[in-house]
Amino acid sequence: MNNLARLDIKFLSGVGPKRAELLSKQLDIRSYYDLLYYFPFRYIDRSTIYKIANLQGDVPYVQLKGRFVSFAAHGEGARRRLHALFSDGTGSIEVVWFNRVKQIQESYHIGVEYILFGKPTLFNGRYSLAHPEVDILKPNSELKGLQGVYNITEILKNRSFTSRTIQQLVDNLLSTLNRVEETLPAWLIEKYHLMGIKDALFNIHRPLSLETLDKAKFRLKFEELFYLQLNILRYSKLRSLNISGFKFNVVGEQFNDFYNNFLPFPLTNAQKRVIKEIRLNMKTGKQMNRLLQGDVGSGKTLVAFMSILIAIGNGYQGCIMAPTEILATQHYHSIKEMSEKIGVKVALLTGSVKKKDRVEIHQSLRDGSLNVLIGTHAVIEDEVVFKNLGLVVIDEQHRFGVAQRAKLWQKNSTPPHVLVMTATPIPRTLAMTVYGDLDISVIDELPPGRKPVQTLLRYDSHREKVNTFIGMQLKEGRQVYIVYPLINESENMDLKNLEEGYSYICEKFPKRKVCFVHGKMKPAEKEYQMQQFVSGNADIMVATTVIEVGVNVPNASVMIIENAERFGLSQLHQLRGRVGRGADQSYCILMSNPKITTDTRKRLEIMTDTNDGFVVAEADMKMRGPGDMEGTQQSGIAFDLKISNLSTDGQILQLSRDAASEIIVKDTTLDTPNNRILKEQLKFLFEKTVNWSLIS
Ligand code: ADP
Ligand code: MG
Repeated sequence: MNNLARLDIKFLSGVGPKRAELLSKQLDIRSYYDLLYYFPFRYIDRSTIYKIANLQGDVPYVQLKGRFVSFAAHGEGARRRLHALFSDGTGSIEVVWFNRVKQIQESYHIGVEYILFGKPTLFNGRYSLAHPEVDILKPNSELKGLQGVYNITEILKNRSFTSRTIQQLVDNLLSTLNRVEETLPAWLIEKYHLMGIKDALFNIHRPLSLETLDKAKFRLKFEELFYLQLNILRYSKLRSLNISGFKFNVVGEQFNDFYNNFLPFPLTNAQKRVIKEIRLNMKTGKQMNRLLQGDVGSGKTLVAFMSILIAIGNGYQGCIMAPTEILATQHYHSIKEMSEKIGVKVALLTGSVKKKDRVEIHQSLRDGSLNVLIGTHAVIEDEVVFKNLGLVVIDEQHRFGVAQRAKLWQKNSTPPHVLVMTATPIPRTLAMTVYGDLDISVIDELPPGRKPVQTLLRYDSHREKVNTFIGMQLKEGRQVYIVYPLINESENMDLKNLEEGYSYICEKFPKRKVCFVHGKMKPAEKEYQMQQFVSGNADIMVATTVIEVGVNVPNASVMIIENAERFGLSQLHQLRGRVGRGADQSYCILMSNPKITTDTRKRLEIMTDTNDGFVVAEADMKMRGPGDMEGTQQSGIAFDLKISNLSTDGQILQLSRDAASEIIVKDTTLDTPNNRILKEQLKFLFEKTVNWSLIS
């Protein structure tokens, strides 16, 4: 494939410099290889001819055979259009063109037999066909079979560069390709009954039949996912062979003291299991790279704290990074309370810590008198130097970019153990791909006594009832969150919504104390407002999604989400996780605009149907595609898939991962002659990309 990737697309017959520039700018197609791997996104069956008389209801793309009966141009200038009547003996249909009127009038003729191809639309009781493809029916010419449809941008369309143009260029390319080098070893092709690369590429563009198309798709998906897995697994294997980590031999004094004397509640079985996994991992002498997944409220903070105690017990320091100042502060308070009892020193470092305190923190980190640093991005600034950082916990890591994690990784000559905590359940397939080289621990159990949150979908017409309900909960002594969406496009308007919502609530509940938090506030003000709610001074909090992550107020039992239709499912699930943290029955009320599409309603109903974060995450990925899922943006991986779909190709992914894993176990460096192709392909596919596996 290397040679095709080096051939400039402008040399392909039918392209030239102008089109090459368009292709490059619009579709990122620069080489023969790029075009060959620009696959159709769907196919149209061109093997059947429809009769005009039989058209009924909503018609798909169809093929009609007949003759033009008349042409007539109408309008002037930009509004100029061409109407034609097309008849196939069973009936007639109107055909319309809105541009290239003269050219079309000159090229098509009355009385000649043509094949038209397009999607008829019903207008005033009659079908019409706009901009169909038109082919002359040659004697004995076979009808075309499956035809690929390619994604095209508006700009290309305006320059008469259509899906069909791409098809023609691909045809030119395919017909000159006498040799496509196989990209998988023969033994692998045989073992998994895969189609050869040449057949697969031909069939993905020009399927001979549905069956060969399926085989081509399978081969290309398998290959794509296989190389991704091979890359991930190879690096993690090499890393574990070459890079050593701190060896934490003992559990240590602090852990034991805390566990025996100060544990605030019995650990859940899941917490125990996960702590054991972490403990075992950290005593192997290999660096730990572990993802800790656990639904909101599952008690990850305690697990993180106890893991850090192990580091301290072995003479090292620990660090917790959180995505927001509010969350870092909250972690600080809850961890400080626990650590004070056992003589462990903790400090908070955020953007708003004063210079003087900052200097002091830096000093105590360097001399080792400070055991744990908790903070935001501030903890990875260059002047922050640890004496001996042993374990880093990254909370809600999807807010951290890959580069930031890399920076942290480099803080020591021996890399610290890394525990990445996420409450956004990640679908298994995505986890395998994005975090494929991480070990995974899952807390799949909530602390006892929690009642599942009841989720309800309500519309503006229910507002009075909702208010009455809020009033009742407040009377019982509970607290209430009201969250407004924030859309970056017009922050001022969002703020206005929020402010109006705030006044409305103050008016409705004049005797209640209402606090108000949004992202544009100064940190100190935000902190103050949050504290009002955390301490129970305020009964209601009106906020934007700044509270989304991690805030813990067990007495809050109602979460109202305004314009819920504007949120992603995972985000709704995160917000819902703010309630249901105490012993009381909690509620999440999704307030929606009544004018929503069926899809949106279905989306919201997933929330009312299930509390299971994994189900929500799967559904979210199906609906939005993996590229939009939190956590994938920074990874860049899920985006680049050319043909596979992580939400539907889970089985192929598993198969390809197993295949890759088997190979890596036997031949980690891929140096046996049988695997020569694998090594070359890996180099070709991944040499330009960042070495993800070293920075996870
Ligand atoms: P998350 O996993 O969302 O970060 P937290 O660590 O904030 O969850 O824990 C949620 C709440 O559950 C906290 O109030 C915490 O004190 C409490 N908690 C944690 N572990 C247990 C347990 N084993 N039993 C009872 N409550 C627990
Ligand atoms: Mg948390």
